[in-house]
Amino acid sequence: CGIVGYIGREEAAPILLDGLSRLEYRGYDSAGIAVWSQTEGLQVAKAKGRLKVLSEMVDGGAAIHGTVGLGHTRWATHGAPSDVNSHPQVSQSGHIAVVHNGIIENYVEIKEFLQSKGVEFVSQTDTEVVAQLLEYYYRGDILEALTKVLHRINGAYALGVICSDCPDRLIAARKDSPLILGLGEGFNFLASDVTAVIKYTRDVYYLDDGEIAVLTADGIQVYNHPYLQPVHKEKHHVDWE
Ligand code: GLU
Repeated sequence: CGIVGYIGREEAAPILLDGLSRLEYRGYDSAGIAVWSQTEGLQVAKAKGRLKVLSEMVDGGAAIHGTVGLGHTRWATHGAPSDVNSHPQVSQSGHIAVVHNGIIENYVEIKEFLQSKGVEFVSQTDTEVVAQLLEYYYRGDILEALTKVLHRINGAYALGVICSDCPDRLIAARKDSPLILGLGEGFNFLASDVTAVIKYTRDVYYLDDGEIAVLTADGIQVYNHPYLQPVHKEKHHVDWE
């Protein structure tokens, strides 16, 4: 029910946990994070229950190293609250991780298609099809794969994507679910709410429906779907407490 992503030069895990704690008011039944590091690759920790369960699992973030990652709190819609159904949802190879708020309405059809191609699913979520379909379409360009996925899925989504082949970026996309981008100096955020990032930055972009964002530590570029034309975004300064 809340997502947060960080890319920068600090340890990501404690920042992601802090961001998730600020989204707690939205309600959730499980929580998880995915963080990438050069030595460990993509590391995922997730658990049913309160954020405290996850936080203790990763020693407040100290157990997971890396300066780029995604976090999620889940309000289950498809698949009971459980460890395996928690997000991030990961593709079969373990190379692509996805956090998602919303509902993929045609996930059964996509799941059956992918299963017919030999893809093995581990969760009961609608979200897992996004991770698996991204991998199915991935040919070295995650953005191109994402546009194919967005063309195929129906429903509502705020999505965050991290890929171990392209760990210098986070990808975000939205349709009918809120998503903001937080602009820092040497770091950037994606989040479902400004409250998750306000401690770090007050400069934000509000992502609109049908937009895709690519975040690096040093900048954010927004594109439209499906043409991937650059979109100019207005920077907003949040001055409320
Ligand atoms: N539909 C997804 C699930 O049940 C995402 C739910 C959410 O927005 O937290 O896993």
